[in-house]
Amino acid sequence: MKIISINAGSSSLKFTLFELPEKVTIASGTFEKIGLDDSFYTIKFNGEKSKKEVSVPNHTEAVNILMKELIDMHIVSSLDEIEGVGHRIVHGGSEFTDSVVLNDDVIKKIATYNEYAPLHNPANLLGVEAFRKALPNAIQVGVFDTSFHQTMTKEHYLYPVPYEWYEKYGVRRYGFHGTSHKYVYNEIKNHLGKEKLKAITCHIGNGGSVSAIDNGKVIETSMGFTPLAGLMMGTRCGDIDASILEFICNKKNITIGEATNELNKKSGLLGVSGISSDSRDIEDAIAKGDERAKLAQDIYADKVANYIAMYNNMLDGADVIVFTAGLGENSKDMRQAIISRIHSLGVTLDVQANDMRGEFKCISGKDSKIPVYVVPTNEELMIALDTFNLKNK
Ligand code: AMP
Repeated sequence: MKIISINAGSSSLKFTLFELPEKVTIASGTFEKIGLDDSFYTIKFNGEKSKKEVSVPNHTEAVNILMKELIDMHIVSSLDEIEGVGHRIVHGGSEFTDSVVLNDDVIKKIATYNEYAPLHNPANLLGVEAFRKALPNAIQVGVFDTSFHQTMTKEHYLYPVPYEWYEKYGVRRYGFHGTSHKYVYNEIKNHLGKEKLKAITCHIGNGGSVSAIDNGKVIETSMGFTPLAGLMMGTRCGDIDASILEFICNKKNITIGEATNELNKKSGLLGVSGISSDSRDIEDAIAKGDERAKLAQDIYADKVANYIAMYNNMLDGADVIVFTAGLGENSKDMRQAIISRIHSLGVTLDVQANDMRGEFKCISGKDSKIPVYVVPTNEELMIALDTFNLKNK
């Protein structure tokens, strides 16, 4: 069965077409700069990548172009072959604890969470509308970044702020990257062949979050009310003293919105190093002796290490630690920097095993009290699998 996995952003639309249950990727691609003058799209199929620069005024048009290309490139012989569309939806609040079939009522409910994720949810729903029109016979499924984390108890999701902030306005920890945490948890659980597993999963890419997972249930995750919380990231600050916001607004005579934008887009690795949000640039600068780049890497590693230690305590001892996403899969330097900071947990590194990129592999030393694995994530496949499972229900 062919299932397409969709991630619609405000000016982009990414797709991957799978054959399931075989988990074969048939084609993938991206529409970029939708609504802008220089829009273009790329499609990967049969080992070749094609790029076309054409006007893509909106998401509906992007989907229409995609449908035509799928036929013209002989990727499918009829659009009816695509039996399901899985949509990444960033915020499903506390209501959507699992992936769900999208109908008018469900879409209306999702839209009530738009104010929690104003940059993402409305764009995700534009993708849903476009595909409902283009593939009316296919099942449409919403897969939320927040759902996997909805097993957290109040003790772990409540902030110590006035209770009415939670009751009246929904201020609480929701968590994000849930699709990735769920995917790598399932992968490592299958690999280790354990019925019950306590894992600490570290999704560290441009955005980053750590989760404590006990027997498939998230106990706590580091992102919070928004993805700004928790770890230091590429451009986000992670956890900081909330009073800094008012102080800096007064000092710089800027609005809360402007200051929040700096915390989201100008902080993290970029803010501290003054060089880049990309750890490849940071590592190059460190090699040339740049002290602020080294400081940025040190702070980053320190935050991840401390979350691992905290979550190891919450789990009363983890069975495994997993690294995934851009840095977790590719940066041996960052993995080493993190592992060197969790010595107190008895974790050691196999330096040789760690010298690789993108492989599913154990990288901890034989004497390590907790094994450490790199597990490549695949959010697109997770979205497609949830869609496939709901189609077969
Ligand atoms: P993601 O958001 O998961 O796509 O991760 C993107 C980030 O991964 C980039 O911004 C880099 O910081 C990091 N990254 C990707 N490849 C490498 C690499 N070879 N070495 C170090 N960092 C990398």
